[in-house]
Amino acid sequence: MFKSASNSSLQAIDVIYNSGLRLAIGAFRSSPIVSIYNKAGEYLPEIKRTDLALKYMARLARVNRSSLTKESTKIHQELKANDITTSQIITREPMIYPPWLAHYAINTELTSFLKSQTPPSIFRSHFLSILEQYKDYQKVYTDASKSHDEVGFSIIFQNRNILFKLPRTCSIFSAELADQQAKIATLNEEVPIFPTLTYDDIKTLIDQMSNNKWLRIWKHQTTKLNTIKSSTNRWTNSSLKRKEEIVLNRMRIGHTRITHGYLMAKEEAPICDVCGVRLTVKHIISECLKYEQDRQRIGIDTLLDTALGPETEDNIKMLDFLKSTNLFNSI
Ligand SMILES: [Zn+2]
Repeated sequence: MFKSASNSSLQAIDVIYNSGLRLAIGAFRSSPIVSIYNKAGEYLPEIKRTDLALKYMARLARVNRSSLTKESTKIHQELKANDITTSQIITREPMIYPPWLAHYAINTELTSFLKSQTPPSIFRSHFLSILEQYKDYQKVYTDASKSHDEVGFSIIFQNRNILFKLPRTCSIFSAELADQQAKIATLNEEVPIFPTLTYDDIKTLIDQMSNNKWLRIWKHQTTKLNTIKSSTNRWTNSSLKRKEEIVLNRMRIGHTRITHGYLMAKEEAPICDVCGVRLTVKHIISECLKYEQDRQRIGIDTLLDTALGPETEDNIKMLDFLKSTNLFNSI
């Protein structure tokens, strides 16, 4: 678990990671790190490390093992704080004999009918005729199902029904696993909860935790990108050339060569030669008198979050505007 490494080692790794992402999206050197991570659609390193450690713990629990380091105790506490206990995970049991040696008599006649093209009545009559061949056998029906907010499974014997609810976060796959068959009638309040989850269910919960953590941090930032993009979802620039993607990413982050190159050159901040105010991406797109005609002709939206938003139509307009004003190569 590299989360347990010393802070100085982690910082050294972070520097490389930050640079890698910055180069990948072509962000300008002065760009805020949080904006780079948001635009790249990645978690901040600390969230990513915790996310990986949480999933590692869940994987250990799946094979019935645990780690008792200081770091793992913290991770377990974090899981617990989010109502996740790894002891709920269905463990993987090693097979005690080679599965290919087992011989099960399985009747697959019904699979020859396509479910989408066969009325239930046809299935029922075929099923009854198959049952005729197994008169002396005991019947057991099983199924699992998931409704909007409930998951459950049941096993029906001749004289006995077993019904269980599963934790809300269970996937239908867990329901099938926990039961491997049944017919869910109704899941009323008296139905007991079967305390079981699969690793994939826990993984989904951990993903939600990490997403929420990142979103909370993002919402408290005050970068220029925050004014355009309120989510941490990845925006894709469809079918654009790399240079165009880089230009758009820099415009959105608000750090471009023309507006922030002075930091690298150790010069004064640039001033607009027409309006006499500090030159910024916002000024160019929504205020500058020099570009007013071009903006109107191309139809650049007056709202910054729309003009630089994720819609392809707005992206094309923006690139058109930057090219026709010769700003494109200065970004
Ligand atoms: Zn201006």
